[in-house]
Amino acid sequence: MLFADTAHLVSLRSFDDRGAGCAARDAQTSMRRWQDGRVTDAPAIPPLAEILASARVVALPLATRFRGVDVREALLFEGPEGWTEFSPFAEYDDAEASTWLAAAIDYGWMPQPAPVRNEIHVNATVPAVAAASVPEVLARYDGCRTAKVKVAERGQTLADDIARVRAVREAMGPEGRVRIDANGAWNLDEAEHAIHALAEFDLEYVEQPCATVDELGELRRRVGYMDVPIAADESVRKAEDPLAVARAGAADLLVVKVQPLGGVRRALEIVARAGLPAVVSSALDTSVGLAMGVTLAAALPALEYDCGLGTASLFTSDVCAPALTPKGGVLTVGRVTPDAALLDEHAASVEQRDRWLARLTRCHALLQG
Ligand SMILES: [Mg+2]
Repeated sequence: MLFADTAHLVSLRSFDDRGAGCAARDAQTSMRRWQDGRVTDAPAIPPLAEILASARVVALPLATRFRGVDVREALLFEGPEGWTEFSPFAEYDDAEASTWLAAAIDYGWMPQPAPVRNEIHVNATVPAVAAASVPEVLARYDGCRTAKVKVAERGQTLADDIARVRAVREAMGPEGRVRIDANGAWNLDEAEHAIHALAEFDLEYVEQPCATVDELGELRRRVGYMDVPIAADESVRKAEDPLAVARAGAADLLVVKVQPLGGVRRALEIVARAGLPAVVSSALDTSVGLAMGVTLAAALPALEYDCGLGTASLFTSDVCAPALTPKGGVLTVGRVTPDAALLDEHAASVEQRDRWLARLTRCHALLQG
């Protein structure tokens, strides 16, 4: 069976307007639409043994705890086009993770869209650290003109967020761009209150302030007078329908990530259909996954915002030498190859490796239908 028949089975259910929980036949309808419209040159799914032949599981230490983890695990493997990455977060189920595998296979086995730019500006990412630690975090990024600040972290107060954002604004100067990301943690009133309190720091945009599309839409109406754009992230990548937020007019821009959206070409298609500006971000990928994101960013017809692809700076060490970290605030476009010694150095434990290989096996079976 062709890759396009299967790899997008899970993810493309969303393109069927009948919504969540649709049956396999609905998915087939969606896939046909997809094939009729656009991606027709998808590869056959490689045999599992072909993937396993080069598969390496790594565990990369983070400089600062991020997304609740100190170590980022990823499975890397090599296809005919180069190295690729499969790294869905641990809590994701196999159906969701299989979309990430489809993206990894597409990147490893297919030529990718041609770049329309050679350099990608990226932002610094500031985890929910104390304000006093902000200069130390920003020092890890070379020349980034934009900073994204995590806010609304569990166990912290709005006062903590205000102090952190103030410290970032002071460090970036008046010319710097400062955006915040709440990961959907605020309810409507909390979000309105927080944006009002943080607006004095001249926010570029607020990413996923609330969890649902309805809340985002209502919030956008409420804070419209403050001229702070609303970005959707989880409402794109974790939604049954990644276009619902755009259709509802609930966001000013979209955050798009290659792995959760099923590949570079599918992400391009989603952005085109949404008709909104896009920010390409990583999912705390290794340098290999970041290069996938850079491929997407380089191929987008328009790129108004700096991308969230500077996250290799959050690791103390990565799989590539040098790691794909920004120089002068930019990343260079192109594929990367892991360094053999670094793959050995960061090899996961036997237990971690077995867990990832079992996950790969299950997701591969799902893609085959
Ligand atoms: Mg986000």
